[in-house]
Amino acid sequence: MEDKIKELEKIAKTLEPDKLTRSQWNQAMVNYADEFLDQIEEVKAFNEEEAKGKGIYDSPFSDHAKSMDDLIDVFRTQVDYPALNAASGGHLAYIPGGGIFPTAIGDYLASVSNNYAGVFFASPGAVRMENMLIRWMCSIMGYPENALGNLTSGGSIANLIAIVTARDVKGIKAVKVAQSVIYITEQVHHSIQKAIRIAGLGEAVLRYIPVDDRYRMDVEILERTIEEDKALGLNPFLLVASAGTTDVGAIDPLDRLADIASSHDLWYHIDAAYGGFFVMTEEIKPHYKGIERSDSITIDPHKGMFLAYGTGAVLIKNVEALERTHQYSASYMQDVIGDMMEPSPANLSPELTKHFRGMRMWLPIQLYGVKPFRAALSEKIWLCRYFYERVQEIGFEVGPYPELSVAIYRYVPKDGDANQFNAKLVENIRKDGRVFLSSTTIKGVFWIRIAILCFRSHKRIVDLCLKVLEEEVEKLKS
Ligand SMILES: *Cc1c(COP(=O)(O)O)cnc(C)c1O
Repeated sequence: MEDKIKELEKIAKTLEPDKLTRSQWNQAMVNYADEFLDQIEEVKAFNEEEAKGKGIYDSPFSDHAKSMDDLIDVFRTQVDYPALNAASGGHLAYIPGGGIFPTAIGDYLASVSNNYAGVFFASPGAVRMENMLIRWMCSIMGYPENALGNLTSGGSIANLIAIVTARDVKGIKAVKVAQSVIYITEQVHHSIQKAIRIAGLGEAVLRYIPVDDRYRMDVEILERTIEEDKALGLNPFLLVASAGTTDVGAIDPLDRLADIASSHDLWYHIDAAYGGFFVMTEEIKPHYKGIERSDSITIDPHKGMFLAYGTGAVLIKNVEALERTHQYSASYMQDVIGDMMEPSPANLSPELTKHFRGMRMWLPIQLYGVKPFRAALSEKIWLCRYFYERVQEIGFEVGPYPELSVAIYRYVPKDGDANQFNAKLVENIRKDGRVFLSSTTIKGVFWIRIAILCFRSHKRIVDLCLKVLEEEVEKLKS
């Protein structure tokens, strides 16, 4: 038996590289990262190619070790190259973010140390770090000191956590679902409807409140609808507003919605996944008045703090309610109970073991200080305003004046179908690849979007985008 163990140990120990190997691997990684970043300003935002990373299958898993250089080469050609370069400043589609470099160092250290950030007992420092980040986000939103929440993988899970907490605190048991009412608009992010369904609320009454000409929830219609619903014997319990919609960056009238939520005793959730961090800018802060009166907020550091993908957050005032929904124990967890100087993430989310997300956010904020983040966010607001003016000068029709850093616009050709023309325009711009834009359809009208949030998108990129638009319109017209 001992021989057998020794023999296995010899092979198993391959999993611990020696110092020289570590150093060679580190060097290969750093070389690749440097190569990637040194050319980030020159490369395309989108690479349209046929194979779409299919070559990844040419290196199947086996018992044999492969070289780091070969594997990095597979990564370069099959993963990094095809389609969207989400790190590029030319990524102006959907909601970008870019991925600031210290996120990578934070992830590296979090992975090397493998800190267990789920429970306070295991890594009190990691849990304090994450709670400190959550409290910082609470404070910029104007939430009280005893509010908390959770660092999630993204905004979708953050919305889900808020909605299941609202469901439980409002006592929406299965028998009550069909009479219970949720108020949203057509402009809400689809992760809200998805969360509603996952939360077992798919049979609740979903009221789509109309929006005004700037795509913001109509407060009067909301109030009237709630009263009508109550008169019908229904049970209004949840209002979801947006602080920055995905389509156009609209901000719902947060303060007036807070009045309505409080007078009708609704859980008031604000999805600020995209727009949340703009609260730090002097341009936007006044427009977010009332956000502090909500019950919960979703905010995405992988958007507005430009972290690499993988970090969202939910902020919740009623931490007991959050914990009642998510806390569970088991006999094998008995040593953990009792040692709780800080609430543990595992009791405030569906996850137990998780990536130590705090490190990838704490490190950049501490390294840079908050100031450059605030400046970058203000810069994006002004870039969007600049784009909005210039795109009209080159003949485009525009949607509402941008409240944040998203704008919609379209080219209306003298003859032919405008929707088809603009769909073709977006397709051609994607094939060109210098910038990447996405589109949306609102009330049957096809709009092109620009979403300026990648930290690498500066004025040069916006000018390039205008140039590409102008060139592609000319090509398409002739
Ligand atoms: C991006 C976004 C989400 C979803 O967040 P993920 O991080 O992609 O899961 C939800 N709501 C809004 C408004 C968003 O912009």
